[in-house]
Amino acid sequence: MMSALAEDLIRVLGQGRVVAGSLSAYAADATEHEGLRGEPHAVVQPQSAEEVARIVSWAYRNDVALVPRGGGTGFSGGAVPVDGGVVVDLSRMARVRAFDPELWRMHVDAGVLTSTVRRLAREHGLLFPPDPGAAEQSQIGGNIATNAGGPHAFKYGATGAWVTGIEAVVAPGEIIRVGGAIRKDVAGYDIRGLLVGSEGTLGIITGAWLRLIPAPEVVLPVAAAYDSVQEGCAAIESILASGLVAAAVEFVEGTALTASRGAFPAALPEAARFLVIAETDGTAAEAAAAAEELRELLQPNALLLQAPKTRQEISALWRWRDGVSLAVSAQRGGKVSEDIVVPLDRLRDAIDGTNLIGERFGLEACSWGHAGDGNLHSTFLINPENDDELKRAHQAARALHELATNLGGSISGEHGLGWLKRDQLHLQWNEAAIELHHGIKATFDPKGLFNPGKKT
Ligand SMILES: Cc1cc2nc3c(=O)[nH]c(=O)nc-3n(C[C@H](O)[C@H](O)[C@H](O)COP(=O)(O)OP(=O)(O)OC[C@H]3O[C@@H](n4cnc5c(N)ncnc54)[C@H](O)[C@@H]3O)c2cc1C
Repeated sequence: MMSALAEDLIRVLGQGRVVAGSLSAYAADATEHEGLRGEPHAVVQPQSAEEVARIVSWAYRNDVALVPRGGGTGFSGGAVPVDGGVVVDLSRMARVRAFDPELWRMHVDAGVLTSTVRRLAREHGLLFPPDPGAAEQSQIGGNIATNAGGPHAFKYGATGAWVTGIEAVVAPGEIIRVGGAIRKDVAGYDIRGLLVGSEGTLGIITGAWLRLIPAPEVVLPVAAAYDSVQEGCAAIESILASGLVAAAVEFVEGTALTASRGAFPAALPEAARFLVIAETDGTAAEAAAAAEELRELLQPNALLLQAPKTRQEISALWRWRDGVSLAVSAQRGGKVSEDIVVPLDRLRDAIDGTNLIGERFGLEACSWGHAGDGNLHSTFLINPENDDELKRAHQAARALHELATNLGGSISGEHGLGWLKRDQLHLQWNEAAIELHHGIKATFDPKGLFNPGKKT
């Protein structure tokens, strides 16, 4: 039976915009394996910014919480209606409003899939660099709301660097447009920047103007395996010290490497404990020269050096990298995977520290991630049926956040605070900074109805 809220929303929006039947698909996001589920009171699927504005006006008149939802691939519980409320599913707002390949720009609805933007750009010789791992399901609006990164954020920056304008609906139901098809804008305070990474707590993003660049002619990765964290981290630092601008510098360590060893597209030596993937891009000549330099930089102490050349070999290597997370989950059926970031020269301390925290809480631990950005997916393996393990893993995650901030880093590099990391900002910010954070929230959302309890 439909809730009273859903019936009221039908009066505001019309029949076709309110989801009838089971709402269970909206109860969780990619954190479900950590046991996080909510229960939406209703789900709406607006098709335009004007319809989103009507929803927000209605919510503000009736004091109803709204939970914006993109592809539901978030790793911090941001799209989960933990305390109920109305889920605003943006998936029907999936129009490419304008695409001007000759001007390197695209204007899209917020619900357009990340993979659609990347594919369209590629078909016209262009690149939309942000490449978060769930691009087939995640939406541009969700990517902006989390400022999503990915392997190539090392050279090209995270999503926000590619967004020149945002259209959003803010309280109490107004459409605002900040920036646009322009490459510079310092007229007002950076409201665009505030919406980037706001995790649905300041308003609902309905559209975006995106910046593109000509796609590099060639990409060439080099993979190198080492027998210790120390050797691997030294290799990573040598890349930066050389002055070579790699497009991506990734790492996979310990159990994450053993768990995915069988699928690696070459025979990995038994002693391999740490793997580095670094990629160069550019014209064919530039990329080839840079890849040669990378080989020389990664060679000392490497147990294996692999430099795929063909498109198939390169895709096989990245497919393997994309599969690491799943391979780790498959070990015990579940994992609690974090997203800390540290200064690059503390990467080794963060990796070793993750393993020590695992030992302290009696959990197997490992890390992988975006080494060039000092961004680690520090992970504790669990059996999701075992409540005690899950509890210990959450305690371990908390200790990890303390480690990250003690190392001068942050508790989240790309997934955001969402629900899972709420109330932990004090680990890295002082009172004055946190007051500003809360002040910004109160200015945008005086009634606290946008995604309550998240990013606090
Ligand atoms: C296999 C896998 C690999 C991943 N790899 C990466 C990676 O490499 N890098 C990375 O950064 N992340 C990665 N992620 C996490 C996730 O894909 C990103 O956080 C992504 O940006 C979330 O987009 P989404 O559309 O799924 O948003 P959702 O999960 O639906 O929502 C995420 C947050 O954004 C808010 N939100 C969504 N849409 C809007 C909107 N239109 N307006 C306002 N707020 C909104 C939600 O309320 C929520 O707080 C990965 C996830 C998976 C499952």
